[in-house]
Amino acid sequence: MNFDYDLFVIGAGSGGVRAARMSASHGAKVAIAEEHRVGGTCVIRGCVPKKLFVYASHFAEEFEDAVGFGWEVGQSSFDWPTLIANKDTEIDRLNKIYIKNLEASGVEILNGRAVFKDAHTILLDGREITANYILIAVGATPFMPQIEGIEHAISSNEAFYLKDFPSDITIVGGGYIAVEFAGIFNGLGANVTLIYRGEEILRGFDGDICRHVQEEMIKKGVDVQTQNDVTSIQKDGKGFVVTFKNGTRRETSCVMYATGRVPYVQELGLDTVGVQLGAKGEIKVDAYSQTTVDNIYAVGDVTDRSQLTPIAIREGAAFAETVFNDKPLAVDHSNIPTAVFSQPPVGTVGMTEEEARDNKFDVDIYKSVFRPMKHTLSGRDEKTLMKLIVDRNTDKVLGLHIVGPDSGEMIQAFGIAVKMGATKSQFDETVAVHPTAAEELVTMKQLVS
Ligand code: FAD
Ligand code: NDP
Repeated sequence: MNFDYDLFVIGAGSGGVRAARMSASHGAKVAIAEEHRVGGTCVIRGCVPKKLFVYASHFAEEFEDAVGFGWEVGQSSFDWPTLIANKDTEIDRLNKIYIKNLEASGVEILNGRAVFKDAHTILLDGREITANYILIAVGATPFMPQIEGIEHAISSNEAFYLKDFPSDITIVGGGYIAVEFAGIFNGLGANVTLIYRGEEILRGFDGDICRHVQEEMIKKGVDVQTQNDVTSIQKDGKGFVVTFKNGTRRETSCVMYATGRVPYVQELGLDTVGVQLGAKGEIKVDAYSQTTVDNIYAVGDVTDRSQLTPIAIREGAAFAETVFNDKPLAVDHSNIPTAVFSQPPVGTVGMTEEEARDNKFDVDIYKSVFRPMKHTLSGRDEKTLMKLIVDRNTDKVLGLHIVGPDSGEMIQAFGIAVKMGATKSQFDETVAVHPTAAEELVTMKQLVS
């Protein structure tokens, strides 16, 4: 049978773009559909603008810290519209680069929403397009619990485009986005209240990390309320009144929900083609990203294996190798290094202490909590935490966790060592770089348990 394309990709985000370009480089005739903007969540309203906001929010502390080093800083002020406009300019630049790269790779970009008609036919705004293979790379969308007044709340999607800077913001959730945005808005000068339903934020991270981040956020002025939840939101003039589980209420100028992201599979026509979903609505795939329909594959957030850009990119690349380069390639999802751009930030790779113990490893725990050198003169009361989880029987470093400045940068490099199966002795044999914070990880002597 003759198809219009060898491959039709739905969604031009991290996974879709990489898969489309690599498949085209292997000789496939490829089209990619995008209903919003080429670049997807990470580039348009995720990792990139978020990191720019994190940079923006650090300046307030930098000005304060400078005084201890002899600087006299004049009066400073922050202008939100300037930040938004400059961020938008940068995102436009990146969006154009993504479009140019796709075109240069020979991929045809089709603007509009794609839905399935059958296993080989896509409907794009009413037009029928056929393809031998179809790749679903539609990502995820914010989950908003259905409480009274939820229509008044924003998600991270809108946080990047707020017209007015909120003087007071209530953020619901205790995961990556809630914690990152609490730091951003706090640094930029808002009153921030973080409402988390559990005992400690960042559930799933090493327990020491969760406690340390929570304590440091509180020290920086974020009102972290755990074991609490919002039951309703009422509009009140220009702002809102939020009612909590414990019956208390508070006025706020903005309510932001960061309560997870769910696979964006609604009204995609998956039931008509027989692509099966898992319990959380994620597309079920095998190790090669093949769905329950032979010619249909899925990569990235929509498969809910790990909602991170480098993973979506890897899965997209592995798909192209498998299907169009005759080299079946499965992505290894173990030991994924990751960073939370909280303030201070987190860098982590491998097992948490809790996971190691649950998996019956005999573990040695090394831990160090210290004041970063910069703060000896700045006077800031902020501590860095570093922790190693070591298998007592093999001496292998099973997990490495950091809370402190530049931990995202550190974990990228230490991630290689952990991925290679480095032992604690090999860490110790590595000469320290002095004076750095990272040297602590190759000089840890103190067993805490
Ligand atoms: P996406 O990038 O979401 O792309 C999917 C694309 O498909 C979208 O452009 C969408 O418009 C399009 N689409 C959907 N349905 C259709 C359709 N039917 N027809 C046409 N087009 C369609 N990850 C990190 O690694 N580091 C970070 O620092 C980080 N920060 C983040 C911050 C925020 C606020 C958020 C929300 C996410 C962040 N992430 C981060 C996660 C990261 O953005 C995602 O894991 C990544 O973008 C997933 O890529 P994807 O290709 O699966 O989907
Ligand atoms: P997360 O899954 O990280 O966190 C969701 C939070 O919302 C959890 O604290 C969860 O609580 C809470 N929650 C879930 N449902 C409800 C509910 N009904 N009521 C109240 N609270 C609720 O999701 P995020 O939205 O923060 O981010 C989505 C994903 O995007 C992340 O998991 C990550 O993979 C990716 N991301 C990565 C970043 C990075 O790499 N730096 C940055 C931002 C996002 P509980 O713990 O109790 O379940």
